[in-house]
Amino acid sequence: MIIPFSPPHIDQSVVDQVLDTLKNKWVTTGPKVKELEQEILSLTKSDAAICVNSWTSGAILMLKWYGIKPGDEVIVPAYTYCATALSVLHCGATPVMVDVQDDFNIDPEKVRNAITPRTKAIIAVDFSGWPCDYDVLKAIITSPKVVKQFKPETSKQIALGRILLISDAAHSIGSMYEGVAAAKKSDVTIFSFHAVKNITTAEGGCICLNLPPVFNVQEEYSYLKMYTLNGQNKDALAKSKGGGWRYDILFQGLKINMPDICAAIGLAQIKKYNDDLLPARKIIAKQYYNGFREQKWFVSPPLIDIHRESCYHLFPLRIKGISEDQRDTIIDELTKLGISVNVHFIPLPMLTFFKKIGYKIEDYPVAYKNYSTEISLPIYPNLSPKEVKFIISSLIKIVNSHMVVPQKKVAESSLLMPV
Ligand SMILES: *Cc1c(COP(=O)(O)O)cnc(C)c1O
Repeated sequence: MIIPFSPPHIDQSVVDQVLDTLKNKWVTTGPKVKELEQEILSLTKSDAAICVNSWTSGAILMLKWYGIKPGDEVIVPAYTYCATALSVLHCGATPVMVDVQDDFNIDPEKVRNAITPRTKAIIAVDFSGWPCDYDVLKAIITSPKVVKQFKPETSKQIALGRILLISDAAHSIGSMYEGVAAAKKSDVTIFSFHAVKNITTAEGGCICLNLPPVFNVQEEYSYLKMYTLNGQNKDALAKSKGGGWRYDILFQGLKINMPDICAAIGLAQIKKYNDDLLPARKIIAKQYYNGFREQKWFVSPPLIDIHRESCYHLFPLRIKGISEDQRDTIIDELTKLGISVNVHFIPLPMLTFFKKIGYKIEDYPVAYKNYSTEISLPIYPNLSPKEVKFIISSLIKIVNSHMVVPQKKVAESSLLMPV
């Protein structure tokens, strides 16, 4: 059996949407992007949605929008994909890395301790689709002491008057927090539509705004749209209309707009996300959970509790008591059986570039512990029950025959799937 890790969901409706775009002969930013933005608004109930060509460019845009510059600090978790920290470096600012919790997400207490008068933003990552503890993070950045030491330097910073909370929601489209989309919980939420994510546009991303009322949403939307198009006051579609040739450049923008040909892929997927693609992921997560729950070594990923529900982007299980080498051996054995798995993530301080600029894994013990025992299993709508069963039985066989496993059942995680 050959089981890929995360193939994109390409069905007839995707093909039809893309063909429709080609036949209309409008391939760059236009009606499909607009429609995708509308779908994201109705899915998340956000105030505004701006599609871009990647999560990374969306993050750079929003940091620049907030005036992040050399000398500023942005707090990020050590346990994430490189883009979270690189977006900060691209603005000339310093990513201040903090450790994560057992649920893989940024530790709010570590955030509190890392705040200085130079802190301008926090980028919290919803790992695997599990929403961060946004109520606690919001309480920290709005506490009188933290607000008092905030030093606004731009008009946006003066308007907000505090640290900007950005959600790296690359994994978490469709995740829920106290009955609303988790995206509602941050000032700015950025999704990724990279090929491996729950919804893909091949490459792409979307910025959702849920700013306090001092901001005029329509103005920010128009400004950010221009920002994605070189600061040009008219997009290509408007220019293509008769007599519309004259345009102006109003400021130094970026060029990070999403093309319609890409939006078409995501549009077809998002139309069936809530009713079809997302429930299919949840079923697989339940099958995994029930398949492994009796194993003494099984540590369940956070999936659902009374406040939050994941969008099941990954199934990042952990194997209690194993070393990094043992984990690597298990992955090799799964690979021999045709099962592709992954590790999310190699903590940033373990990567050459971040080591070179001074980050040390010793400062992030929880990130290392999570990483060294973690394996992400395949999870996607087209994974068949037979394949899921094969993955479960293969992993159980491999772990139980090769590994020294703890004799006592691991304390049940409080983050249980409903059975
Ligand atoms: C995929 C990913 C990104 C980057 O997304 P791109 O669209 O490829 O720029 C950022 N953060 C996390 C946590 C991711 O998994």
